[in-house]
Amino acid sequence: MNEVWHRALTNLRGRLSEDIFESWIEPLRCDGFSGDVLKLRIPNRFYGEWINTHYRDVILEALGEAGGDETPPTSIEWEVDASLMPRPDPTPLRTPPDRARSSRTACAARTDLNPKYRFDNFVVGPSNQLAHAASVAVGSSPGRRYNPLFIYGGVGLGKTHLMNAMGHEVLRAKPDAHILYLSAERFTNEFIQALQNRRIEEFRARYRQGCDLLLMDDIQFLAGRDQTQEEFFHTFNALYHQDKQIVVTSDVYPQRIAEMEERLVSRFQSGMVADIQAPELETRMAILQQKAENENIELDQDVRLFIAQAVKSNVRELEGTLIRLAVKADLLGCPIDLAMAQETLAPILPSADRVTSVEDIQRAVCHYFSLRLSELKSKRRTRTIAFPRMLAMYICRDRLGTSYPELGRGFEKDHTTVLSAVRKITRQLEDEDPQVMAALNAIERKLA
Ligand code: ADP
Ligand code: MG
Repeated sequence: MNEVWHRALTNLRGRLSEDIFESWIEPLRCDGFSGDVLKLRIPNRFYGEWINTHYRDVILEALGEAGGDETPPTSIEWEVDASLMPRPDPTPLRTPPDRARSSRTACAARTDLNPKYRFDNFVVGPSNQLAHAASVAVGSSPGRRYNPLFIYGGVGLGKTHLMNAMGHEVLRAKPDAHILYLSAERFTNEFIQALQNRRIEEFRARYRQGCDLLLMDDIQFLAGRDQTQEEFFHTFNALYHQDKQIVVTSDVYPQRIAEMEERLVSRFQSGMVADIQAPELETRMAILQQKAENENIELDQDVRLFIAQAVKSNVRELEGTLIRLAVKADLLGCPIDLAMAQETLAPILPSADRVTSVEDIQRAVCHYFSLRLSELKSKRRTRTIAFPRMLAMYICRDRLGTSYPELGRGFEKDHTTVLSAVRKITRQLEDEDPQVMAALNAIERKLA
């Protein structure tokens, strides 16, 4: 059973960003299964709630894949085990997952940078050339020409990698530079905790004073979080007026971030905005080559070409695929050859009969809005849920042409509800509502 969990962890490592994996998944301990219930131990209750809301589905999915023919668990039972709590941290503001990081080098621990993400192992190609050049410029003279730097692009295309590389570069030139690297998700959590614990002054001091470089990853997480946006706006201004460099990443360009305050959007646009696109074939091959060398995986040219042709959308998936093949080769005691790669990758290869389903669309929408499928299908009518639900209905109708009664069943709603949702979104699109267009674009891209 432990083996299944182990494989699921490898799988999760491929699916989630490094930061998320280390923060939320690594500290978990598996106590096995009982029936179809997976038993996990967690450091504290806060953990359980957060994971349950955000990562439950992906954990269960990974277990499903890792278990092979065995029936995968369908639910998770949490048990708090305080001994999993890492040593007390001298910084009182840190949230529990942050404390759980342990595998960092001394220098990186101080800054939270990931030592694996550097300029020297970033493969440059036409798709990321601009973002790379801007990042190098920021790394060598922070707070000067490109301030703020805004990098946007789809998941797994190297935004976090570039951000960390900038951090290392700044630190190399100025070892005592104070660098804050964090995701907008963590900023939000810390802010909420600071409010709850009445430590807001401490929080502000941490972000607004004495910080030379602020690297804020995945800013789209702030969508609709008004109070956190307000806080970030003031943080931004405070740093900007001290000529401190600010770097922000997002999955879409500034105007397309859903529910983001106009004044923040205009701040983001005031500096340098650079995009990262999906890498071309040559770049994908170069990335595979580098990764294989780093991991001591033997990979012939023909296999490399085959993988690079099969996995197009993002670098994380490309790396994940390589690791999967390497694990399989290891288990079977055979080399990664073309036949083996073809057989293993057959399910992911594009084929005519792999069409998008209602559920695919629902999942893509949930992913975009950080919702659970059960919330999307629930009866709740708050805007944060009702809007994604309507949008999902619209996309299903638009892309799949499914009948209204059938969509009603798929969403556990009356068919008239679906009909009016589709009408409403159609109208908003005709009015060129920017929020609707932004969400639609991002989700369509994910489905493509
Ligand atoms: P994002 O933050 O855009 O979702 P990441 O920076 O986390 O993506 O990148 C995902 C993975 O792909 C990381 O392991 C990263 O090192 C790798 N990667 C992405 N782009 C490149 C590149 N151009 N060269 C080498 N590795 C890359
Ligand atoms: Mg990232």
